[in-house]
Amino acid sequence: MSDCTHDCKTCGQTCSDRKEESLLAPLNELSSVKKVIAVVSGKGGVGKSTVTSLLAVSAQRKGFHSAILDADITGPSVPKAFGIHEKATGNEQFIYPVKSKSGIDIMSLNLLLESDTTPVVWRGPILAGTVKQFWSDVVWDDVDYMFVDMPPGTGDVPLTVFQSIPVDGIIIVTTPQQLVSMIVEKAVNMANMMNIPILGIVENMSYFKCPDCGSKHFIYGESRVEEIASRFGIKAVAKIPIDTKLTSACDNGMIELADDSVIKNISDTILI
Ligand code: ADP
Repeated sequence: MSDCTHDCKTCGQTCSDRKEESLLAPLNELSSVKKVIAVVSGKGGVGKSTVTSLLAVSAQRKGFHSAILDADITGPSVPKAFGIHEKATGNEQFIYPVKSKSGIDIMSLNLLLESDTTPVVWRGPILAGTVKQFWSDVVWDDVDYMFVDMPPGTGDVPLTVFQSIPVDGIIIVTTPQQLVSMIVEKAVNMANMMNIPILGIVENMSYFKCPDCGSKHFIYGESRVEEIASRFGIKAVAKIPIDTKLTSACDNGMIELADDSVIKNISDTILI
C-alpha cells in the first residue's frame, strides 16, 4: 500500500504486512526458556498433570534441563506428584522455583499458598494474571523444555494463557470416553485457531492389563486414538494403561521414579 504509515495501531486495513499487537508476556532478564510445550485436556481428571510430570521427568532423564509451570491454578497437583512440601522463595523482583529431587524447576500456586488445601476462588482474569506472573516473574534459569500444565477446557483462562506465553507445541491428553465426544475436537480447533502445532496425543487410562493373564481390558471402550490422530494429522500417539503403580507414584510424591516408557512415542518425537 502506497499510503502505509507502518503504524498498525492506527490503521484498520488488513494487509500482508499487518503486525498484530502481541499479548505475549515478557520473560525477565535472568530467564531463558528454549521450548515451551503446553499439555491440554478437554476436562479435568483425565491425567493431564500426570502426563505433564512424566514428560518433564522424561526430558530430565534425557539430559535436558526441564521445568514445569503449573497453570492449572484451581487444581494444582504437580508439587504433590513430586513430593515437594517446601515453599517457593522470592524477593521484590523475582520468584524462585522449587527444584525437584532430579533438578526439575517447578512453579505452582501450591508453592506459594500457606496450605495445600486452601481453595482458590479467584475469577478468570486473576487466574490468567497469576499464570502470566509465573512466566514473567519466576527465574527460569537456562531451561531447555518447559511443560505447562494448562487449565482444563477451552475457555477464557486457557485462551489467555495461550496468548500470554509463547507456546511452541501442544500435547493433548484424553481418555477413550472423551475421544468419542467433541471435547478433543474442540482442543484441536483451539490449537489450529492459534496456529500452534499439535505435537502428540496421549490416550490415558487406555486399557487395563490383567496382572494374572496379561490380557488387555478396554474398560472405557475400544481405543480410537489412532483414528482420531490420523484424522487431524497428529503424528505421535501414546497409550497409557490404567496402572495403580502410577497412581501411587503420584500420591506418594514419587513420580520421578515412575516408568516413563508409556510416553516414549511422544517423548522421542518432541525431545530432540
Ligand atoms: P488432571 O490433571 O487431568 O486433573 P491428574 O493427572 O491429576 O489429572 O490425574 C487424576 C488422578 O488419576 C490422579 O490421582 C492420578 O494419579 C490418577 N491417574 C492418572 N493417570 C493414571 C493412570 N494411567 N493409571 C492410574 N491412575 C492414573
